[in-house]
Amino acid sequence: SEEKSLNFIEEIVENDLSSGKYDKIITRFPPEPNGFLHIGHASSICLNFGLTKKFKGYTNLRFDDTNPVTEETIYVDAIKKDIAWLGFKWENELYASDYFDTLYGFAIKLIEKGLAYVDDLSAEEMATLKGTPTEVGKDSPFRNRTVEENLSLFAQMKNGDFPDGSKTLRAKIDMAHVNMLMRDPILYRIKHAKHHRTGDKWSIYPMYDFAHGQSDAIEQVTHSVCTLEFIPHRDLYNWLIEKLEIYPSHQYEFARRNLNYTVTSKRKLLQLVNENFVNGWDDPRMPTISGLRRRGFTPSSIRNFCERIGIAKRENLIEYSLLEFFIREDLNKTSWRRMAVLDPIKMVITNYPEGQEEMLHGENNPEVEGHDGERQIPFGRELWIERDDFMEEPPKKFFRLGPGLMSRLKNAYIVRCNDFVKDEEGNVTEIHCTYFPESKSGEDTSGLKVKGTMHWVSVRHAKTAEVRLYDRLFISEEPDREEGDFKEYINPESLVVLKKAYIEADLANAQQQLADNPDRRYQFIRKGYFCLDADSTSENLVFNRTVTLKDTWAK
Ligand code: ATP
Ligand code: MG
Ligand code: MG
Repeated sequence: SEEKSLNFIEEIVENDLSSGKYDKIITRFPPEPNGFLHIGHASSICLNFGLTKKFKGYTNLRFDDTNPVTEETIYVDAIKKDIAWLGFKWENELYASDYFDTLYGFAIKLIEKGLAYVDDLSAEEMATLKGTPTEVGKDSPFRNRTVEENLSLFAQMKNGDFPDGSKTLRAKIDMAHVNMLMRDPILYRIKHAKHHRTGDKWSIYPMYDFAHGQSDAIEQVTHSVCTLEFIPHRDLYNWLIEKLEIYPSHQYEFARRNLNYTVTSKRKLLQLVNENFVNGWDDPRMPTISGLRRRGFTPSSIRNFCERIGIAKRENLIEYSLLEFFIREDLNKTSWRRMAVLDPIKMVITNYPEGQEEMLHGENNPEVEGHDGERQIPFGRELWIERDDFMEEPPKKFFRLGPGLMSRLKNAYIVRCNDFVKDEEGNVTEIHCTYFPESKSGEDTSGLKVKGTMHWVSVRHAKTAEVRLYDRLFISEEPDREEGDFKEYINPESLVVLKKAYIEADLANAQQQLADNPDRRYQFIRKGYFCLDADSTSENLVFNRTVTLKDTWAK
């Protein structure tokens, strides 16, 4: 079998293990619980958990919950559900907020070493003194406070004695450093806010830079993988580990993954939810894991997609159609073939005896051995067919129905169109055909050759259902790079609801079929892959189109 080549982070890990630097590795996936996970996070999950699947070690799930204002327990629960659904198991469920006491101790240690000070500058004053990349910064007038003074002020900050924004704790590094982030970065800020786990205990909260690397060290994470924008933070990450004399975790960076025709930023996705551009985080048009799940994507299609795009050192835009390629590949192998007519017109088989009907058979899935069983399909004199499968004046090479044209009805007979009926406005309302009794599928002795095959549903046995068709959420490939607000580029046709589609009799059992097998999906012949939506009731089944059968999104 062919060995897949390692990506650059896997190579680092392999070298670290073979050189004996580590005997096992520890990674972590560190979401901030301020939104639902999206397809970009899936890349990071597959990478972090993938590393410890491939190599000896384990992966922690660590909630990076140091910002009390935006974080909520519902997000924690959704994140756990999504990672588990993707097929990964974390070793420990951890929270940066569990380390608040330890982090406070680390801050004291820095103060005692003369490496941190309490600053009274406002944010604006601090920005002014910071300098620019080409101009050195200036020291804060509070930079030379004594250790005692700093210890007592910091304790008062913790006790809630000062208002928000009136003081910060800063690392004392170098106001002339080439890396702007090393010019005395803020370690703690005052925030009188209730935290989703620690409640009102704290009125100071650590900054990302004073929580992330320290949490890595506490957990003895060996390889801490993050996205490229954290490259400048690496100096500080290492400085803090060195000065605090804690476990030397290492930070590695890879490029953020972006999909075209969507946005992957929790802040923007939250706007779509809050401003009702979509129906919640799990709207099937959302690039969230929960949206993709509801749309009908499978965990393996997402994992295969992440594996294929791999990881990179430079940002680029990934085609949404690549994601669709992987879900088609998956569903082609597993979905049950069924017939549903989305835009119905009636067809009457004039030589089929009135009142007569018969049961035909159709394989569940011709792609697999044994065809995954079969179902019965009732047939009768009146059928629903797709409106656009008939043309009054068909062009050459139209292989479906028009006056005098013949076509095969899937799993049934060959029919010939002889006539049609129009209403007063000139709309075709009914199509009249004759069938060839000896052309029955599987036992065809008619000798007739036809090119087209059409799907259909028996009028008497049809059930109605609601069908939801989805398209790209945005009309722009990169909505967040367009002029103006990204929401101006929402595709007004991203959701089309068909309230009255006709489905074949067996699909009336879709709720039971989903209960029997949570992975149950359907291919509506010629129409795409569908799944039953959670909005379904026994009276009103709702199907979501996951993806069309072919890539129709021409660029
Ligand atoms: P967002 O902008 O969506 O809020 P974030 O990076 O702030 O993203 P976190 O919850 O901090 O979101 O992300 C958890 C992990 O997932 C981080 O390690 C982050 O680097 C990674 N991650 C987030 N977005 C992407 C992406 N588009 N591609 C790859 N990894 C990502
Ligand atoms: Mg983050
Ligand atoms: Mg964020």
